[in-house]
Amino acid sequence: MSARHLGSESRRGVTSFEVCRVRSCDAIVIGGGIAGMSAAYSLSRRGVEVVVLEREDSLTAHSTGRSAAQYIETYGGPVNQALTIASRDFLLSDADGLAEVELLQPRAVLWVAPAENLGDLEQLRQEMSPLTPHLAIVGAGEARTHCPVLDPEWVAGGLFEEGSYDIDVAGLHQAFLRGARRQGATVVRSSPVEAMDRAGGRWELRAAAGTFAAPVVVNAAGAWADEVAGCAGVPPLGLAPLRRTIFTFAAPTGYAAEQVWRWPLVADIGDGFYFKPEGPAQLLGSPADETPDVPCDARAEELDVARGIDAVNSATTLGVRAVRSVWAGLRTFAADCHPVAGFDETTEGFVWCAGQGGTGIQTSPAMGEAVASVVCGTSPPAALADIVERLSPRRLRADR
Ligand SMILES: Cc1cc2nc3c(=O)[nH]c(=O)nc-3n(C[C@H](O)[C@H](O)[C@H](O)COP(=O)(O)OP(=O)(O)OC[C@H]3O[C@@H](n4cnc5c(N)ncnc54)[C@H](O)[C@@H]3O)c2cc1C
Repeated sequence: MSARHLGSESRRGVTSFEVCRVRSCDAIVIGGGIAGMSAAYSLSRRGVEVVVLEREDSLTAHSTGRSAAQYIETYGGPVNQALTIASRDFLLSDADGLAEVELLQPRAVLWVAPAENLGDLEQLRQEMSPLTPHLAIVGAGEARTHCPVLDPEWVAGGLFEEGSYDIDVAGLHQAFLRGARRQGATVVRSSPVEAMDRAGGRWELRAAAGTFAAPVVVNAAGAWADEVAGCAGVPPLGLAPLRRTIFTFAAPTGYAAEQVWRWPLVADIGDGFYFKPEGPAQLLGSPADETPDVPCDARAEELDVARGIDAVNSATTLGVRAVRSVWAGLRTFAADCHPVAGFDETTEGFVWCAGQGGTGIQTSPAMGEAVASVVCGTSPPAALADIVERLSPRRLRADR
């Protein structure tokens, strides 16, 4: 049996390797972020015995804990739009009552454009309005009534999207975790998967916490998904981790805190920046950067923060001069920017749940259901019937 090993980055922090008896189950999920936990929840709901193996002590240490926490139907193209809409009822129901907090709070989105990009607003409206009808093109004046700090010399118009929300990401992740555990799933932290072999119709995984075996492995390793595939001898899909930076800053003086709190998320249609209220007296901003990176604990670069501040300042009267906190995270994309969910045709029992890019929180309920229906060989929920096939990794294989 030839064990394939992950690189030193993934082994870092492991102080001991305890070889204990093999723990068997129906499916092993690698990665305990929002993707892995939503898959574990949907699988366990169908009676599948699941073990989740997470490398870190915290399940939300990477992309899941670093997002902008926004639900936007018009972001990420039609496949992401359909997955997002298919997730909406679950999110609005506070994860079928599993969440201990309200998961969604209304937060409209205002796409904005300078004169030269006005056409892009109408193009987005046309592309998205069949599934998201509550979209309105607004002039510069109306854009400024929604967000009065927009600079009248920069903004020429906007696309206003109601029916968007702030997401309580921690609450959603906890709800998946709680639901999965209630249905018998086991979550093992601080346990990087280091080697994977398949024999006798099942996978055997060596992880820091021991050896685990199951006929099916779900790869929900985020930025590390191609690396984990390599560990199983599965050819990579060419997933690209792109770094994105976020900074927070004080809300401007001269506006009541309640007024600022009602501002929408404002996003440049040309992907130069976005910002949104993050608390009664604080805003969160981003240069909307997409810098190619390697799978890692991503760190914000000073230059990216400076670029973000410049972009926000040039389109607004905010006059940001200092930041309160900065962070960065990886958004991992397939070549066509659609998520990947499904069995790999090259290798028996290997399932992808990866490539969620910039929409992995808002699409997680639907992605979990897509993965579970594929693994169990059952029909997906009606809202996903036309989508599941489009998520298959087959589309990304050059030799298909
Ligand atoms: C700045 C930023 C803003 C964003 N804003 C939004 C937003 O507003 N709305 C939205 O919907 N999405 C947003 N996203 C995207 C969203 O955060 C991601 O799509 C989502 O978190 C991906 O979840 P994941 O579980 O795949 O990844 P992760 O949370 O990174 O989880 C993968 C896990 O796999 C583990 N792992 C890796 N290798 C191994 C191994 N060998 N063994 C065991 N475990 C392993 C890792 O430790 C990690 O915990 C944003 C992302 C960023 C970075």
